[in-house]
Amino acid sequence: DPVYLNGRFLPLAEAGISPLDRGFLYGDGVYEVIPVYSRRAFRIDEHLQRLQATLDGIQMANPLSAEAWQAVVLKLIETAPWDDQSIYLQVTRGADDKRDHAFPPASVPPTAFAFSSPLVTTPAAVRAKGVAAITVPDLRWSRCDLKVVSLLANVLARQQAVAQGCAEALLIRDGLMKEGAASNIFIVKDGVLIAPPKTHLMLPGITYDVILELATAHQQPLAVREITETELRAADEVWMTSSTKEILAITTLDGNPIGNGRPGPYGEQMWQWYQDFKNTVMRK
Ligand code: PLP
Repeated sequence: DPVYLNGRFLPLAEAGISPLDRGFLYGDGVYEVIPVYSRRAFRIDEHLQRLQATLDGIQMANPLSAEAWQAVVLKLIETAPWDDQSIYLQVTRGADDKRDHAFPPASVPPTAFAFSSPLVTTPAAVRAKGVAAITVPDLRWSRCDLKVVSLLANVLARQQAVAQGCAEALLIRDGLMKEGAASNIFIVKDGVLIAPPKTHLMLPGITYDVILELATAHQQPLAVREITETELRAADEVWMTSSTKEILAITTLDGNPIGNGRPGPYGEQMWQWYQDFKNTVMRK
């Protein structure tokens, strides 16, 4: 199963990039992860729009049109051996022959890379129990709305969680819970679903949008506003959401139970709505 690199499809073992690539030297690049169910890309238009927004945010031209990206993704999906996949896209500012922080000359071509891997889903037994999380200070920069490959703060936060036997680290900045190291976070309190607002300090998740749409479609009480660390700890339910995790209950936070320590009814309902929605749009 081939990967895509700079206009060509070739075996992964033959896909090489320069050690002077700015993605390698500076983390000067952007990425996307698109889930594929039964060989259909879920919300691909939205993922490609977010890719464009991130490229705009780092002042970089998109090397491919949306149609060209669609064609690349389609070809990867067709040639991969798995029905359910995760498609990874990355674009960097390419490799200049000299090392300089400022942008390279326009003559330096960008690097565009994409590949498919099998979609790793959460086992039902894990979903039924929920997962443990920790809170950590949010040490990221001030443009967390951009999906860039400079992920060191996220890497360290997630590793801290894993080292403590936890699935996710929830990032706290100025007393507010912004999101997870690689997920958005929702809470439920007294039947109201509460979601942090989209600001420069949170990645606008594609799954986040789907969940707000589903809550609205099902006429659920909803509040989009900042969540304090205190409210987080006192929540009835806490969920983490992402394209690969979908909706997963966090049932323990820093060693203390959330609510009764088991996944709550609203999260289970939302997971079911999400599955139904996925199946409906994928059948079209
Ligand atoms: N927040 C961060 C920091 C992420 O890395 C991700 C990606 O997994 C998300 C949120 C969730 O975004 P999406 O639902 O588009 O996968």
